Amino acid sequence: MTEYARGLVWFRRDLRDFDHAALYHALKRARQVVCVFVFDRDILDGLPDRADRRVEFIRASVVELQQALQARGGGLMVRHGVAREEVVQLAAELQAEAVFFNHDDDPAALARDAAVGVALCARNIAVHHYKDTVIFEREEVLTASGTPYSVFTPYKNAWLKRLTPLDLQAYPVEAYADRLAAQSTPIPDLREMGFEPTNLRELDCPTGMAGAAQLFEDFLDRIDRYQAMRDFPAQTGPSTLSVHLRFGTVSIRQLAAAAWQLGGRGAQTWLSELIWRDFYHQILWHRPDVASGHSFKRQYDALPWPNPPGHFEAWCEARTGYPLVDAAMRQLNRTGYMHNRLRMVAASFLTKDLLVDWRRGERYFADTLIDFDLAANSGGWQWAASVGCDAQPWFRIFNPVTQSERFDAQGQFIRRYLPELARVAEKFIHAPWTMPAAEQQRAGCVIGRDYPLPIVDHAVQRAQALALFRQASPPALK
Ligand code: FAD
Repeated sequence: MTEYARGLVWFRRDLRDFDHAALYHALKRARQVVCVFVFDRDILDGLPDRADRRVEFIRASVVELQQALQARGGGLMVRHGVAREEVVQLAAELQAEAVFFNHDDDPAALARDAAVGVALCARNIAVHHYKDTVIFEREEVLTASGTPYSVFTPYKNAWLKRLTPLDLQAYPVEAYADRLAAQSTPIPDLREMGFEPTNLRELDCPTGMAGAAQLFEDFLDRIDRYQAMRDFPAQTGPSTLSVHLRFGTVSIRQLAAAAWQLGGRGAQTWLSELIWRDFYHQILWHRPDVASGHSFKRQYDALPWPNPPGHFEAWCEARTGYPLVDAAMRQLNRTGYMHNRLRMVAASFLTKDLLVDWRRGERYFADTLIDFDLAANSGGWQWAASVGCDAQPWFRIFNPVTQSERFDAQGQFIRRYLPELARVAEKFIHAPWTMPAAEQQRAGCVIGRDYPLPIVDHAVQRAQALALFRQASPPALK
């Protein structure tokens, strides 16, 4: 194996200095390793909001990563520019003989990495890339006939069958840390990059590796109750590690190993969620078209979504008159996070009640979610809109009132995000338009004035959604 005099590690969605495939391999193969992170203008300049929690999250995590690498005797060079140019230029300037990075299978990232690869090769600089952000990627889990899975349960069974302790083993970066080069540059602040500070610091969203470790430690104390608690948004059920998985401030191997070793119902259910993540990532690899507006089930591409005027805006602005949906949208708008049950309810409501094209909701989530992940978001939207692989069947439509009664029975979550309904009695909290006038006065909430009337009638919309899908479905399902 060639030993390089100098290697360059390009950090992207893997902002940690431990259990890191590319960093480990670089340290093993190069006598000196320089690290770089680029705030990529190709991505940042396209963000619609100048106050974007993700940029602030990344920046804070990069600050921590730089400190952590420095504590190991190394450093982190940080640039703000077009990554596909910056990385090539820097590798040339440093006279690096090889560049190392971890896979990112988003179509735009693959195109960028291919361009970087070509430019580096032209300069005679080697390129090495590794699986790091998932347990199994690309073609690693296939059916017996060698085709990709499109149904989750058999995928999960094959995934579990394939898993060995080796797949979960951490990359021992620390063993070679003396090869890190102490090269660092200042980190541009948000304003220098054209961004504004957000409310991130006020949220329960700790950043960086330390934030992820803290959340994971807290979660391990309640992982046994995950299965029982995860569907109730007023409770602290899920891990809230999604943003850390997105930016790699935590290692997927560490999480999956803990869940696998712990066993028990809670840990097993949580491991299944991590497997869903791999599942959607391999779907994106095999069907990159799902990320550019196509339905996994192509026959639904032509569904004539009515998109009634004003419906999409009311949904975005939490003005639908359905409390659980509005509370979910307020949680998203205020924090950048939305509980999984609510993502399903809100997405179902937009598509099946408001009859708005799922792509508009998908885009809104992509712009707003702090944990936005192309594969999971596309998978989640297509599931809810019944156009995806292994999706919710189109004839099963969530009733937003029943969902509210089941998953927020006392209306605790609703009241947290909709203070205008704080004094509404439990009996009416899920459908406040049913409150008699005197009760509205008592609760200090007049429907139509203090809180909107329902924008649509669920029963009527359900019938329309069914008719819409019936048109586009194979005859057997009509
Ligand atoms: P936990 O319940 O603690 O789960 C642990 C981890 O497993 C998550 O952090 C996540 O990485 C993974 N995971 C859990 N559920 C899923 C799932 N259904 N699909 C894929 N991975 C999953 N997740 C994202 O990470 N980014 C998105 O952009 C995203 N968009 C979604 C859009 C819709 C319409 C729906 C229905 C779901 C979406 N999800 C997305 C999946 C899921 O809602 C979130 O991963 C989860 O709510 C994150 O919270 P958590 O970290 O507390 O999850």
